[in-house]
Amino acid sequence: MGKIIEPLRGVHDVLPAQAAAWQLLERTARDVFAAYGYEEFRVPIIEQTQLFKRSIGDFTDIVEKEMFSFVDQGDDAITLRPEATAGIVRAVISNGLLRDNRLRVWCMGPMFRRERPQAGRFRQFHQIDAEAFGFAGPDIDAEMILLSARLLRRLGLSRLKLLLNSLGTPAARADYRERLTEYFTLHEAVLDEDSRRRLKGNPLRILDSKNPEMQRIVAGAPVLLDALDAESKEHFEGLCAHLRSAGIEYHVEPHLVRGLDYYTRTVFEWTTDALGSQATVCAGGRYDGLVGQLGGSATPGIGWAMGQERIVMLLEKQGLAAVRASPDVYVVLVGDHTEIQGFRLAEQLRDAWPDLKLQINLGGGSFKSQFKRADKSGARYALVLGDDELARGVAAVKDLRREGAQEECTFDRISERLGQLLGLKGGIAE
Ligand code: ATP
Ligand code: MG
Repeated sequence: MGKIIEPLRGVHDVLPAQAAAWQLLERTARDVFAAYGYEEFRVPIIEQTQLFKRSIGDFTDIVEKEMFSFVDQGDDAITLRPEATAGIVRAVISNGLLRDNRLRVWCMGPMFRRERPQAGRFRQFHQIDAEAFGFAGPDIDAEMILLSARLLRRLGLSRLKLLLNSLGTPAARADYRERLTEYFTLHEAVLDEDSRRRLKGNPLRILDSKNPEMQRIVAGAPVLLDALDAESKEHFEGLCAHLRSAGIEYHVEPHLVRGLDYYTRTVFEWTTDALGSQATVCAGGRYDGLVGQLGGSATPGIGWAMGQERIVMLLEKQGLAAVRASPDVYVVLVGDHTEIQGFRLAEQLRDAWPDLKLQINLGGGSFKSQFKRADKSGARYALVLGDDELARGVAAVKDLRREGAQEECTFDRISERLGQLLGLKGGIAE
């Protein structure tokens, strides 16, 4: 016997029983993006490794240790995308989409990071992603946040907290970086290994440390908001005013930084206290330098990414996940001559009612075993076809959820009768 092949560590199957929750999330996202005039953008899962190195930054978790990179048969250095922004920016530039200077798009799909697998942290995971280009003012920052808030609200997730900060301009950040370096150098003796490395490469990243011991030291660190340049301050206040007017509660979190280098000004996160230490379900910010950095003409940008696994976990935890869909009708076929007729009838019914969910018995079986399958399928009605019924040109419609409720129906009336019983709409009843 062949040995069973296990999935890779940190990589998960979405089982049919879980698909309804995923579909609910994805359907809701599509609807909400449409409601704000965002268009779908599908970008590749593999890109040149240097795209991520150049955009995300060398001193980030992703580039330091999390990328799935390989050299292919033609000696190309390739990486499985760890996030969507870099690929979208690359695609926006290489397809010349910035010519009219404005774009609002979304994307959804798998991302890959070689992290230590744990609850809420996987090596293949999925994100819903929004990006906008060509808008310099705080209005787009507000729209991006309102959009994410509406999506979360439509899903029924209301107990989430919005954290907000501004990282200012690169110049303001350079000053801040010096002050941070001074501060953390004073505390170098108690810094963990990661933080000590970051002190040399990118001290802002120490603020993002997940180590509780570090968080105590971080709490005393200087705050960038205090030293913000006038324009960034005005931008931030503009955003806050928008959020207040929309009734979106937010918390200014002066030590909030994001794990990627490309952010400028606004950064934000939606967090939950229901998922333990993997608390962030959506995160984003403004990246005004990135398009230029990747060879495009200087264009402001902003975006966010939502972790789909964490949202599905929240939906399941709060009993909001959609239930698995059952068929409306299960077709029971007993006797030697019913299979061909049964298939024809089933296809006719599907023609007549595009919304009808009908499952047909396959592989034969006794009357009793077929009824067991019909019941297990969760169907409301069984449509029963036997040799005897066939000879008389009728089928039996049996209500599987009401004892003894059964009626006979001539072939030319079955479609209409099922349409009535199930309240089907939009059909072309014969
Ligand atoms: P963290 O600090 O938790 O590592 P991050 O800064 O690396 O997060 P982002 O790159 O901002 O995360 O990704 C946006 C969202 O995608 C996260 O808030 C989270 O919901 C989700 N996410 C990120 N990495 C993973 C992962 N390995 N497994 C599952 N979801 C993830
Ligand atoms: Mg990470």
